[in-house]
Amino acid sequence: MFKGILIEKDEAGYRAAVQDIDEAQLPSEGDVLVRVSHSTLNYKDALAITGKAPVVRKFPMIPGIDLVGVVESSSHPDHRPGDAVLLNGWGVGEAHWGGLAQKACLNGDWLIPLPSAFSPQQAMAIGTAGYTAMLCVLALEKHGVRPADGEILVTGAAGGVGSVAVAILSKLGYTVVAATGRPQDADYLKHLGAADVLDRARFSDPGKPLGKERWAGAVDVVGSHVLANVCATTKYRGVVAACGLAGGMDFPATVAPFILRGITLAGIDSVMCPRADRLLAWQRLGADLDVAKLGEISHTVGLAEAIPLAGELLNGRVRGRIVVDVNR
Ligand code: NDP
Repeated sequence: MFKGILIEKDEAGYRAAVQDIDEAQLPSEGDVLVRVSHSTLNYKDALAITGKAPVVRKFPMIPGIDLVGVVESSSHPDHRPGDAVLLNGWGVGEAHWGGLAQKACLNGDWLIPLPSAFSPQQAMAIGTAGYTAMLCVLALEKHGVRPADGEILVTGAAGGVGSVAVAILSKLGYTVVAATGRPQDADYLKHLGAADVLDRARFSDPGKPLGKERWAGAVDVVGSHVLANVCATTKYRGVVAACGLAGGMDFPATVAPFILRGITLAGIDSVMCPRADRLLAWQRLGADLDVAKLGEISHTVGLAEAIPLAGELLNGRVRGRIVVDVNR
């Protein structure tokens, strides 16, 4: 038996609870059995646990789109018992049993070695949120944005993706401007490396097709009017990396910033991102993220505590990242 959060949906309703689960119930499609040490609570995990959006595609489901652990047994050629491994995405925690449990049976193609730069806890302090922040930074670089080009805006800055993006960009020498709905977290964001902190309210309402040019680049986790206003105020040939929908899935914009200022909107997906790009992102996280900042960005909870925290996270009341120690 092992402990895990199990989400069930039936005539009694939608519910998530910590349960003792029989190892025989683990899905048989995986070829690697992992003894999980840590997982995390991402925005998507919070949606799965609360049922606020249809993230879970079959029931019962163990949520957790991220995990770190040690291989217990494997018939996959790349993984041996005792190997420390890391998983982000691939539909795990949505369509396949995930990381918020002490055991997981997974397709070995989805696993990458735990980067030597990080302890299991640090890797989960980064998690999908931090790895997505790195994918956003890589997209800005790919499209030619350099520190000398000017300010980079990070929206939803006090959240998981935002906090890690601020920390990475500032370490790389960019001038980072953080947009947040939590002015009380201004000191936290400045400590992570933000040069300036703005109230997100100035981006939230419907805006003009074009505004005063300010941003050389942006990382947006919010979507909707915020993304439209960010595009409208991005400088000529600037780049906006869009990865989130914390403020809405719509994109009420015009083509003006694209056809008159040549800006680039780079879409970021972490879930099905090819293995080579993941390995690059994790390698760059090892080089370009100050691990000392992970202590400030994250705090650790046990499996049972993760359930009530899911609602808090969706209400924007969780700062930074949550690591889940599945054995606590
Ligand atoms: P968090 O909840 O940790 O952070 C989201 C932040 O967005 C909040 O902290 C808040 O920041 C801001 N926010 C929340 N609600 C609103 C709102 N209504 N209007 C404006 N701002 C808002 O989530 P994550 O950082 O883990 O994820 C952020 C987004 O990125 C989510 O939509 C998630 O689904 C998406 N995502 C996408 C991935 C991909 O592969 N494309 C991978 C990972 C995440 P503040 O308080 O500072 O204003």
